[in-house]
Amino acid sequence: MSNPAKNPGCDEQLAGLLSFDEARQRIIDFVQPVTGRERLAIRAAQGRVLDEDVISPLNVPPYANSAMDGYAVVGSDLPVQGDTQLEIIGTSFAGEPFNGEVSAGQCVRIMTGAKMPGGANTVIMQEHVTRNDNHITINSGHRAGQNVRHPGEDIAEGESVLVSGKLIAAAELGLLASLGIAEVNVKRKLRVAFFSTGDELRAVGEILQEGQIYDSNRYTLYGMLHQLGVELIDMGVIPDDKAAIEKAFHDASSMADVIITSGGVSVGEADYVKLTLEKLGQVDFWKIAMKPGKPLAFGKVNNAVFLGLPGNPVSVMATFYLFALPALRRMMGQQLQPLLVYRAITNDRIKKHPGRTDFQRAIVTNNNGQPTVNCTGMQASHILSGMSHANCFVMLPAASGDVEAGSEVDVIPFAGLIDD
Ligand code: AMP
Ligand code: MG
Repeated sequence: MSNPAKNPGCDEQLAGLLSFDEARQRIIDFVQPVTGRERLAIRAAQGRVLDEDVISPLNVPPYANSAMDGYAVVGSDLPVQGDTQLEIIGTSFAGEPFNGEVSAGQCVRIMTGAKMPGGANTVIMQEHVTRNDNHITINSGHRAGQNVRHPGEDIAEGESVLVSGKLIAAAELGLLASLGIAEVNVKRKLRVAFFSTGDELRAVGEILQEGQIYDSNRYTLYGMLHQLGVELIDMGVIPDDKAAIEKAFHDASSMADVIITSGGVSVGEADYVKLTLEKLGQVDFWKIAMKPGKPLAFGKVNNAVFLGLPGNPVSVMATFYLFALPALRRMMGQQLQPLLVYRAITNDRIKKHPGRTDFQRAIVTNNNGQPTVNCTGMQASHILSGMSHANCFVMLPAASGDVEAGSEVDVIPFAGLIDD
């Protein structure tokens, strides 16, 4: 707070709260990439993280070839002024090269991608010549060396093409295939155990009694984890019961690299979770200066990394996206990218008290080239429908107060895990 005197009561309320940036950095710094790799056929490696540097075994393209359909000529034959006639001595097709040599006064008909014949170093586009039987006439105005693709100009033999930690996606599959590489070493899959806590929760398919609700967090978590490509261990709903919670944490830590739970970390009602974690692990209970998602538990249970997300459905998605995701990506061995933040104009006036970083659910659209956002109505942390309507968070810095309509705001688009 720049001027605490201006916001009486605010400092007291914020005492002991961790900033969003600090919490995110602490989590990222704490986790380490897993060890262990497997060797996979390249298509099976899509969505996995490369666990080796890939060095090119060859030049791409492997030989000089034509960038155009036309005629391969000797550069020194090009007329400086007037025109000149060349004799056609053969044809070079893609996959069926011409094997002879081109000498002064000669040329070879050549197709795009076909190997340049020996002696020729220049291609004249077919539209730029006049053909007469087995001769062509070319004008001045051409440049020696034009329209030729050189060996290794995309990738040179011995060059590092992909580095360890690269997520393998469509471009990487094609790149690996272009080098003739059929298999790669990737990190083993991360094992993530997850469960919901709460006596009020019922699984889909069950009948709700008075005071009960369906467990949705295990489904949003499933959706995001599944998309991320980790090995999932769904441990169901664990009641607010000491023995059950203890057993769940014990089992989870013996099976998984990471344990993610929802609920039971807010003040007052988290006693069993807290007691168990004090016994089995080293876990900090944080209060983060952010909205939604203030409480978060983070640390280790036995050897597993533990992330205890809040119970409210929107808080679960926001804290997963903002904290769990970078941690999981790092553990998967990925090179971390900073959060992608764009600027957009808000159509709405946004009410906000200074003190916490706010992540409003919003829809960003392209308004004649100007990114523009509208918030998705009620912003309380139980309004899960807002997450479904939204395609981004509007991130308002902690110090910010109310934001007027027409102002520029930071926008974090949901990339991949929350949208499709
Ligand atoms: P808690 O952090 O356990 O106090 O939960 C906070 C709020 O989130 C309460 O209204 C819970 O009923 C709700 N909640 C907790 N877990 C879930 C869940 N798995 N699915 C849906 N709502 C939940
Ligand atoms: Mg609860």
